[in-house]
Amino acid sequence: MSGKILVMGAMEDVELNLLKEKLENQTQRTEGKYHFYEGNIYDKQVVLVNTQIGSINATAATTLAIKHYDPRLIIIQGIAGSHSEEVHSKDIVIANEIIQINSFVIPNATREELPYDLEDFTLQEPSTIPQIKTNEVLVSYASQISYPHGKIHIGRIGSGDVWNKHKKAIKLLHQKYHTLCEDMESYAIGKIASNYQIPLIGIRAISNNELLEEKYDRNVGKYSQEFVLDYIKIIPQ
Ligand code: SAH
Repeated sequence: MSGKILVMGAMEDVELNLLKEKLENQTQRTEGKYHFYEGNIYDKQVVLVNTQIGSINATAATTLAIKHYDPRLIIIQGIAGSHSEEVHSKDIVIANEIIQINSFVIPNATREELPYDLEDFTLQEPSTIPQIKTNEVLVSYASQISYPHGKIHIGRIGSGDVWNKHKKAIKLLHQKYHTLCEDMESYAIGKIASNYQIPLIGIRAISNNELLEEKYDRNVGKYSQEFVLDYIKIIPQ
């Protein structure tokens, strides 16, 4: 299975910096706001894609990258906020599924004043929400990696243009969708990858856990990148 591996990252300074240092024979391309770095890591052909933040950027960057590089697989990676007391800062979450978490029903208002209470926003039923399955074989390779900074969890990532800080909102999402963490790009990238039938894996390092008051640290991006380097090393050529 030769061909190019796309590695996605929203924030270039903390989610792609280390990978850029390891990328040999590098060539760079820019299209709009999106940066693409092509080269080799462990003798494999790799393209680093700086998607920028959020689902709209991620959709555009992923589509451009697929059209230009025709990848054999896509690795989503970077940082994410925990949705569970079991998932600590610095832990790794491997996505076997990705679910969209910014899909709400706002029912007919029974009260007229704003702002709404949280109860007025009803989360969509899981069965009606868009979900993406990542590739089982790609997920299975990830469990071969030893990770010194925390635990490795395999499960569902929630993703949308939303940053949940309220404990109640996080608990609701976790209860309803069984999400381990949230980010802003995985669903968009996953949706485009699946539309083009490109095998996909998601790897996220936890940057914050509001339930446990573990404060946001964007520098955990280096742990995600280290994990991705090990992952690129062990997957078949
Ligand atoms: N201005 C801040 C935050 C940027 S947005 C900064 O520059 O560091 C945060 C990014 O990290 C997004 O790309 C998203 O995918 C991810 N992320 C980390 N924790 C998150 C959380 N709790 N909720 C949503 N996205 C989160």
